[in-house]
Amino acid sequence: MLEELKSLAKIEEDVSLVKYNTYHIGGIVKYFITPNSVNSLISVIKLLDKNNIPYFILGNGSNIVLSSKRFEGAVIHLTDINGIDMQPELNIAYAEAGAMMPKIVIESINAGLTGLEFAAGIPGTIGGCVYGNAGAYNACIMDYVQSVTVLDKNTYELTELDHENITYSYRDTMFKENKDKIIVSVKLFLKAGDKKSSMNILEDRKQRRLASQPLEYPSAGSVFRNPEGDFAGRLVESCGLKGYSIGGAEVSEKHANFIINKNNATSDDVYKLINHVHDEVLERTTVDLIIEQEFIGWE
Ligand SMILES: Cc1cc2nc3c(=O)[nH]c(=O)nc-3n(C[C@H](O)[C@H](O)[C@H](O)COP(=O)(O)OP(=O)(O)OC[C@H]3O[C@@H](n4cnc5c(N)ncnc54)[C@H](O)[C@@H]3O)c2cc1C
Repeated sequence: MLEELKSLAKIEEDVSLVKYNTYHIGGIVKYFITPNSVNSLISVIKLLDKNNIPYFILGNGSNIVLSSKRFEGAVIHLTDINGIDMQPELNIAYAEAGAMMPKIVIESINAGLTGLEFAAGIPGTIGGCVYGNAGAYNACIMDYVQSVTVLDKNTYELTELDHENITYSYRDTMFKENKDKIIVSVKLFLKAGDKKSSMNILEDRKQRRLASQPLEYPSAGSVFRNPEGDFAGRLVESCGLKGYSIGGAEVSEKHANFIINKNNATSDDVYKLINHVHDEVLERTTVDLIIEQEFIGWE
């Protein structure tokens, strides 16, 4: 099996996942597989299925909380399936799932397109962004999605889903409910823009993030979704939890909705701290915050 896998994609064994997620936590995975094309991805999952090997799809690991437990399956890292194609004459930006969002934003602006400026500071792949309907500044990626091509994990068929056939809401899409689909590429519908004003927006947003977010520490962005009409960070702060820490994990002093890996935090530190903050906020304010980040390998 291993030899066959090696002929299909780049594969490493017994790999630490610490450097493959933005919290810099996690355990060892038996197979770490990096396909570099959709065909390679399809062949890989067919072979894993044939051998009953479970697998997990990894983008840039910027919205997950990995456990430190060893995973006797495979992680399929999509970042080498990363083609980007701008079609300014049609106002279309096309990207494969593993392409990084900030790169797509810059390429779209350079091609004279506008719309994606809100996403320049989101350090995920476009596949991960669509999966969770990532957003900022009152915009979200689904506002711009024209279609998404998905690979069905059971039939191995590719289907292009139009915008109207994708259900989504704030930080949520049907892909979160139905784990049978792997997003392989995305078509975004943008507008003709002005490069200079887009770059000004980017600079403004960058300064706002630098001033308000603890970007100097590993984290996975906002821990909780903002509840209707309020801000999760405000609620956490109102409970006096800024600076509260468990092991090496800490509620950021700069932004209470960020938990940072301040000092060699373990997976358990981050996990316990997220749950502690959730429970404290519930007890003191009665607001049941929804965790935006996904716990992987904790069952
Ligand atoms: C400093 C910082 C700032 C952030 N700011 C924001 C922000 O402003 N707004 C925001 O919404 N988020 C933000 N985030 C969170 C994160 O970057 C986004 O949620 C991003 O969309 C996650 O993409 P990813 O590729 O890292 O996904 P991952 O973390 O790798 O994966 C997340 C989930 O998506 C699934 N997945 C990934 N790719 C695919 C695919 N191709 N097909 C099917 N499933 C897939 C994975 O299996 C997993 O379940 C921030 C994070 C950090 C660290």
